[in-house]
Amino acid sequence: MHCITCDKNKYPLCSNCSRNPYFVEKARRVLAQKNGLKSLKQLYSEKYAEIKNYNTNSFWNIKFSSPVSYANEPSVTKERIKIAASYIPKKTKRLLDIGTGVGLIEEYLGSQGKTYEIYGIDISQKSVNILKKKFKGDFRKGSVYSLPYGKNSFDVVLALEVLEHISPSKILKVLGKVNEILKPGGVFICSVPLNERMWGLTVNESSHLREYSPELLEKELIISGFRPAGKSFIYAFPDHYVLKSFIARNILTKRWDFNDLILSAKKI
Ligand SMILES: [Zn+2]
Repeated sequence: MHCITCDKNKYPLCSNCSRNPYFVEKARRVLAQKNGLKSLKQLYSEKYAEIKNYNTNSFWNIKFSSPVSYANEPSVTKERIKIAASYIPKKTKRLLDIGTGVGLIEEYLGSQGKTYEIYGIDISQKSVNILKKKFKGDFRKGSVYSLPYGKNSFDVVLALEVLEHISPSKILKVLGKVNEILKPGGVFICSVPLNERMWGLTVNESSHLREYSPELLEKELIISGFRPAGKSFIYAFPDHYVLKSFIARNILTKRWDFNDLILSAKKI
């Protein structure tokens, strides 16, 4: 059996490719596509190289230092939030938002008259301060790697543009914990960027640690005890968003790649 990303006679990855985090991630995407859950699981070991992790309290405090509102966000962000909100089941009472950021979905849900019991957690103290000031809820500073919630606590857990900031060697543990804190039949709603082509970037400004494909995200969720349910793809056109998205979806269908995936998955 050969290395997944080169021709060397070593499976799943040769020692050279194991040291390149982009090759390891590519190998995960390849195995996810092939439906090989068992061999895919092997590629989350700490022995494989990972992209350097810049996600700290201070890194995010800087990002959250200027005031932001939903109305001033780019179309792709609004679209993502609207779609994610549409995946929240009607009977939802208690909801957890992992990676609250500047509270955009909280703002949107409030504008729609939704009155969920909202919990939120973020690595940034600034995020927590913003949320506490603007919204009613239980907001705290904490790490996604040690979520301080009990079993069967939530109807819905949200993690929008968060999973790509989680180390691959820890993602299955995090998703397993998300599964645990959801009530039976509860729904996990997440979004990740697509087609970023990070390899070759000299500065990792976004501090992303992953390059997901739709299949890879779905397989990680399946491994972690979920059944994928809803799925939407969106573009990140900076202007003429509706028109360009229409053209990209219906006319020039091969011209642009999708930039973001929103997925909902049910705890099984
Ligand atoms: Zn190789």
